[in-house]
Parts: sequence; structure tokens; C-alpha cells
Amino acid sequence: MDILLPNSVDYVLLDEDKIEHRVCEMAAQISADYEGIRNEDFLLVGVLKGSFIFMADLSRRLMVPHRVDFIALSSYADKAEATGAVRMIMDTRADVAGRHVLIVEDILDTGYTLDYLYRIFGARQPASLRTAVLLSKPERRKITVPVDYLGFEIPDVWVVGYGLDFADRFRTLPYIAALKPHVYQK
Ligand code: 5GP
Ligand code: MG
Repeated sequence: MDILLPNSVDYVLLDEDKIEHRVCEMAAQISADYEGIRNEDFLLVGVLKGSFIFMADLSRRLMVPHRVDFIALSSYADKAEATGAVRMIMDTRADVAGRHVLIVEDILDTGYTLDYLYRIFGARQPASLRTAVLLSKPERRKITVPVDYLGFEIPDVWVVGYGLDFADRFRTLPYIAALKPHVYQK
């Protein structure tokens, strides 16, 4: 069935079924790895805003008890891409020390954001620290960062939908789509 795409959208990269299937697989793997954990000890930390839908779907598919929390970081607006500078806008409410922390991130691009998160949370004495990332653009990597659970590798295109935005638009598209290059390249 054809779907009516917004004008700025070039093509659908990952449709709803594909995303759902992969998120289920990731949840099954995480559930197996954290089997037997107590609710108090397992903290999912979603990185706002881009991960909010992935976080909602992943957390609901987990078969182990867990708590959810969020942090918010600055975006590329202040040239973070060039400098690697990342700024925290909002911290978690839960105390991280002694807990098994799983960072839930939408997309891994240069690697600076995830590297920043590893340093911040690593310094807070978590019992363990892992990452679940839905998308990765390997061609764009500037620094090497480990990822424990990865959804999909994608090409170097700007993607929107399933939580991901362009200028705070397109977040609630049910699929992940590539924007037309002229929209994001000026
Ligand atoms: P990194 O620090 O790895 O370069 O960037 C990670 C952040 O850049 C992601 O959390 C996301 O906010 C943003 N980002 C990178 N590529 C894309 C993309 O294709 N689409 C959207 N919407 N955000 C992206
Ligand atoms: Mg993000």
C-alpha cells in the first residue's frame, strides 16, 4: 500500500513493521542479559527528545522489571558537530550510583554525544553501564564508542520520524525516513 509522504521526505528507510520487529529482538536480548534483576537496580535512561518513542516501545517490550528516567542534552545548534561540545539541559531524577544503567539513544552519528554520556554516567559509580542505540551512521563516526545493543546501521542521510526530528518537525511519523537533501543542506 502506498503511503502519502510529507513533501520534505525523500524515501522511507525503515517502515513500522521493520522497526517493531527489531525493537522486539533488542528487548528480548536485553531481557535475557538482565534476567533476574530487581526493579530497583535496573534504570533505563532515555536521551531526550529523540529517543522518546524508541524508549516507550523498548521499555514496554522488556520482560524484566526496570525503572525509567530521562536526560536532555543540547543539539547541534551551537556547533556541537564541529567541536564535539555537548551540554546537559536536564539531568536524571534517579540516583545512578549502584544501579545497572542502560542508556537509550536514538542515533549514533559522530559519537560525541554517546562518549559524553559514558563519561558523565561512568563517573557516577553505576553497577554497570550499557547502551541501546536504535540507529548508527558508521560513515560519520569521529570517535570510537562502544554500543551494546544496536538496532540498524544506516547510510549518511538525515533521518526523521519515530522520535527523530528536523527543526522539531516530523517526530511523530510512524516510520523512519530520509529527508530530501535540499531540506537539511543549505
Ligand atoms: P553525535 O554526537 O553522535 O554526532 O550525534 C548524536 C545526536 O545527533 C543524536 O542524538 C541526534 O540528536 C542527532 N542526529 C544525528 N544524526 C541525525 C539524523 O539523521 N536525524 C536526526 N533527527 N538527528 C540526528
Ligand atoms: Mg539524540
